[in-house]
Amino acid sequence: MIIAEKIAETREKIASAKQQGKAVVLVPTMGFLHEGHLSMVKIARNQDPNHKKTYIVMSIFVNPLQFGPNEDYEKYPRDLARDSGLAEQAGVDLLFAPSVAEMYPDGKSLTAVQVYQITEVLCGASRQGHFQGVATVVTKLFNIIQPDEAYFGLKDYQQVAVIKQMTKDLNSSVKIVAFPTVRESDGLAKSSRNAYLSSEDRRQAPVLFRSLQEAEARIIEGETCAEVVREEIRQRISSESNGKIDYVEIRKADNLAAVDSIDCPVVIALAVRFGTTRLIDNIVVEV
Ligand code: AMP
Repeated sequence: MIIAEKIAETREKIASAKQQGKAVVLVPTMGFLHEGHLSMVKIARNQDPNHKKTYIVMSIFVNPLQFGPNEDYEKYPRDLARDSGLAEQAGVDLLFAPSVAEMYPDGKSLTAVQVYQITEVLCGASRQGHFQGVATVVTKLFNIIQPDEAYFGLKDYQQVAVIKQMTKDLNSSVKIVAFPTVRESDGLAKSSRNAYLSSEDRRQAPVLFRSLQEAEARIIEGETCAEVVREEIRQRISSESNGKIDYVEIRKADNLAAVDSIDCPVVIALAVRFGTTRLIDNIVVEV
């Protein structure tokens, strides 16, 4: 596995992989890798165990543009030595790990990519500027790496929707592939931020997924009122944890439009703070 910190070297290596006829797959991450990240690499690698057809690029970049002023950019966990071992074992060919100066040489970007509407709800409403930072850095990564496919996790459901919308609107040729959420054995969605949780918060946090599964069961049993289902989730989380609810919402699975009556596939999404750690999760319910 090659570790490249420079854009120029990354471009050279990718050009040579393309010359060999390989398809380039990009898995963008912020590092502190866990099975959620690595499962995407392993799926691609298992289809091409001999590295003949697919060139897997993983990026590790904690992107300052997508963090708000009072968020956890400074303390976000970073460990490139550990990550590079895990990435290599999973089958990554090139690990692109640029510095902030390499990505933003003038200290800032005068250009931004803004996706409207679907970025204004859910996490976009509580994290001003977050999705503009995400869309901008993903565009930069697409331009640097020029992948055939890019892999994203449905743990960040809204992010997948934003990136799909962006590639459609901007006529990007990158195929976006979405992967299911990987969970701990007690249901908690794997996240680099789980490392911040106190042991008590870690014990309580599985209530998030439990409450989503119960909501799914209620809908399948026939409950159609979104407000009733939302309220049950809120009650469950408040009675079984110290988590402070940021939002619990039920929206159309395809375009994130609000729903009052559940009569189409929906995503139930939530964000809850445990101490200073903000956790998100979601479930898609096919109706
Ligand atoms: P992050 O490093 O948290 O920015 O995540 C990088 C990529 O991994 C994103 O596409 C995430 O959606 C995906 N990802 C993070 N956690 C999980 C998980 N538990 N299951 C599946 N994908 C995940």
